[in-house]
Amino acid sequence: MRKQGWVDRYRFLITPQPYLDELLSSWLTRTAFSHGYSLTPFVSRFLKYDGSSLTRTDIDFQDTHELFEKLTHKSRLTYTQIFQMSLQSEGGYLFESEHGLYPPKQIRKLIDKRAHYGLMFCPKCLAEDTIPYWRKHWRYYFYNACPKHKVFLADRCGVCSERIRFSKMTLSDAIVYCGKCGRDLRKTITQKVPKLYEDGLCAITYFEQGLKNGSFSINNIPAHSLSVFHVHTILSYLLNRQKNLFLEGFSMLEPYRSLCQHEQNYHSKKATSIYKSFYLNAMVFYLMEDFSSRLKSFSEENHLTHRDFLHGFKKAPFWYKKAIDTYVPFQDTVGRQISESEVIGAMNYLKSTGQTINQKNVSNIVFIKN
Ligand SMILES: [Zn+2]
Ligand SMILES: [Zn+2]
Repeated sequence: MRKQGWVDRYRFLITPQPYLDELLSSWLTRTAFSHGYSLTPFVSRFLKYDGSSLTRTDIDFQDTHELFEKLTHKSRLTYTQIFQMSLQSEGGYLFESEHGLYPPKQIRKLIDKRAHYGLMFCPKCLAEDTIPYWRKHWRYYFYNACPKHKVFLADRCGVCSERIRFSKMTLSDAIVYCGKCGRDLRKTITQKVPKLYEDGLCAITYFEQGLKNGSFSINNIPAHSLSVFHVHTILSYLLNRQKNLFLEGFSMLEPYRSLCQHEQNYHSKKATSIYKSFYLNAMVFYLMEDFSSRLKSFSEENHLTHRDFLHGFKKAPFWYKKAIDTYVPFQDTVGRQISESEVIGAMNYLKSTGQTINQKNVSNIVFIKN
C-alpha cells in the first residue's frame, strides 16, 4: 500500500487572487478546486490539519492566528490579505473584538433554523461573476437582500433545499453547485424585493456604507460603527413587537405586522425570518435617519420608558444615552392602563390617611405604583 504523504512542506501550487469582499472559506474552496481537490481532503493534505475537523467548523469565524499564519505562508499572500477575508477582521467595527468563541448577534451563524437555513447568497451576484465567489457581507445580520439586484438572499438550494456547505461541494470548475443535487446555484430563484419596500434596500446600503467608513452620523454627531451596530441589536429587539408595534410614518408597517401574524402558519422550511429581519433592519434605519424625533414618537406610541431602552445595556454610547435621556420619559405616565381597583385602592388609602381625595393625589399614588 502506498503511503499518503503530506505535502505539508510545500506551498500551494496555485493561489487564486482573493476578492476584496470574499469570505475566507470561499477563497479556500477555490484554492482547493484549482488543485483538483474538494475542500476537506485539500485541507488534510496541504495544511496538515485534520481536514474534516477544520471544515466542520466555521472557518470564517475561527480566531486562529496559527491558521492565518499557515495560509499566509502556503499561499504567498500577505497576512493582511488572509485576515481581511476572515469575519474576524470586522471585530471592533461590526461587533466587539472580545466576543468569545461564537459569532455575535451581528454575524449570522452558519446554521440557525430559527433565522435562516444555511450560508446565504445572492444568485444573481454569483451569476454575474467571471469567477464566482462568496461575499463576506452575506453573513452580516443586517444583510438580507441584495441592493444591486433587488432580491432577497437565498439560504438553500432551490431544488433540493439542502443548505450550502463548501465542505460538501464536489470538485468542479466553480464553487456554485449544490453539494447534494448538483444544481447550479446561480439559477436559484429568490423573491424580488417589491418596489414599495425599496427603503429596506436603502437601509442595507446605509449600514454597509457606515461599516466601511467605520462611522455614521446620527443627529449630526459622528458615531463609531461599533456603537451603531450595538444599538441596532437593542432597537431591533424593542421594535420586534409583532402586531402590537406602532411606528407612524414607517411605510412597511403593515407587511411586517401581517408577516408576524401569519408566521405560525408557515412551514418551518419557509424562511419567514429573512423577511422579518429585512423589515426590522429597515425600521432601525428609519429611526436612525432622524433619531431624536422618531425615537420620541416611537417611545410614546409604544409606551416605552427610559428603562426599556437602557436596561441591561452596560456601555451605552454617548449619543444614544443622550438621546434617550432627552426624549424618552423615565416613567410611562400616559399610556399604562390602570384598573378600577387601583383607583379605588388609592382613594381608600387617601381616606384612611386623612388626605384630600382629588385627581392629583390619586394619580400620585397610581404613578408611584407604576
Ligand atoms: Zn446580487
Ligand atoms: Zn440541491
